[in-house]
Amino acid sequence: MTHAIELRDLHKYFGRNQVLTGIDMTVDPGQVVCVIGPSGSGKSTLLRCVNLLERPTKGKVFVEGAEVTDPDVDIDAVRRRIGMVFQQFNLFPHMTALENVMIAQRRVLKRGRKEAEIVARENLEKVGVGDKCDALPGQLSGGQQQRVAIARALAMNPDLMLFDEPTSALDPELVGDVLTVMRKLAEEGMTMLVVTHEMGFAREVADRVVFMDGGVVVEDGVPAQVIGDPRQERTRLFLHRVL
Ligand code: ADP
Ligand code: MG
Repeated sequence: MTHAIELRDLHKYFGRNQVLTGIDMTVDPGQVVCVIGPSGSGKSTLLRCVNLLERPTKGKVFVEGAEVTDPDVDIDAVRRRIGMVFQQFNLFPHMTALENVMIAQRRVLKRGRKEAEIVARENLEKVGVGDKCDALPGQLSGGQQQRVAIARALAMNPDLMLFDEPTSALDPELVGDVLTVMRKLAEEGMTMLVVTHEMGFAREVADRVVFMDGGVVVEDGVPAQVIGDPRQERTRLFLHRVL
């Protein structure tokens, strides 16, 4: 079977600072893989290497079997298959929720206004903010804004989704709504690579949990093992701090 994502011996330097050291990782179609680890361990950089927002210094990235680190690859075509959700929602402040979900469909996929609007409404409905189509981001809670951002990504019909700490900027009472949407996506079979500090989500939803520290994968296994019964001392120490 072709992996949805495969990272092979990935290295990344920023100047002389080595941030990723020989990362090997796979995500299979329909799987949810959660990446956990301390701040600065390279989690965001790893995620950004998947769609080449960062270019790896060495090593290969494959998406659905195609090597995206091949210099001849059409990276825009690859990125179109990958949805990304960030900690900061990055919505356009002067556009309504509906317009925010329509714009990339129009510009990138060249969908007509009618179709883009139908798809936008469907996806806003799906993430539970169907009644907020005409609201500006500033009129929405953080949790609602993040759900609009998820709808925006879904409207592009991605094959896989990358989430970089999607709930870390939210007030605690708003985290649950966003996790509920992500859980639903997972149940529908979306392939997801999720950087998160939400251990409950990782434990219940992830097929695998990857613990990173210092730019390396320290542990990679099922949640019950990595979170429930970690083999490595470094994993234990980290979990002790966050649980
Ligand atoms: P995490 O997401 O696990 O907190 P990051 O991937 O954001 O970790 O960062 C890992 C390391 O890489 C940090 O030391 C950070 O300062 C450094 N880093 C990240 N992005 C850049 C960048 N664009 N330029 C220089 N250094 C960076
Ligand atoms: Mg990060």
